[in-house]
Amino acid sequence: MGSFYPPSSVLVDEGWVRTQDVRNLRNGCGEIFKLAVVKSRYLFDLLLSHGPLLISTSFQSPPLISSKIFRTSIEVMLLELGPNLWESTLSRPVDYGHTFSKVIEMLPENNMMHGEAVALDSFFTLVLSHLRGTLTYTSLTSCRSCLEGLGLPVYSSLLTVENCWTALCDAKEHRGGRMRVPFVADVGEVVYFVDDVTEEELGRGIRWIKERGWDEEWEGGREDC
Ligand SMILES: [Zn+2]
Repeated sequence: MGSFYPPSSVLVDEGWVRTQDVRNLRNGCGEIFKLAVVKSRYLFDLLLSHGPLLISTSFQSPPLISSKIFRTSIEVMLLELGPNLWESTLSRPVDYGHTFSKVIEMLPENNMMHGEAVALDSFFTLVLSHLRGTLTYTSLTSCRSCLEGLGLPVYSSLLTVENCWTALCDAKEHRGGRMRVPFVADVGEVVYFVDDVTEEELGRGIRWIKERGWDEEWEGGREDC
């Protein structure tokens, strides 16, 4: 049981980000990437253009860009969650990246932090969106470049049909009996919800990634995570 109350105010100290190590910065960027893909092309373009420099300078350079990223992330998230604070609508664009990751994160052999697993899930969902003929190949590859620039995973050997199917069955249980997987038609603009993902489709997506040689194991994980 739980109760949600909106806070009366929130203080954001951008200087705090400087105290975080590189891995935690990347981890946080997994969630910002997710939000950008489903809600803001502007935010996505900032991450794509400045991601590597932002990470290597703990968000201190380029000047003003980090403030724009923080502000936009907060504004977009408020616009999305504010009207649906008690989740009366279960088809939520912000669930993007949070379907397959939930099961993968729980595996004992997992070495990804939450935002890293969200990045992995996000990219796989983009691949499935592309294979359904909605997301263009150009958009897909720019998303891949963005994630790699941020040092986030686009593939893991934990991305298997079995794990993804378990996750979809699990998702149905807390999304009112439907999968409601947010798929992407265009970066930052169009999300549609899918209820009919099959094991065959999952397998096709994973094979497609491997055929392109995009299945290099991510090196950013750490044993003690
Ligand atoms: Zn999350």
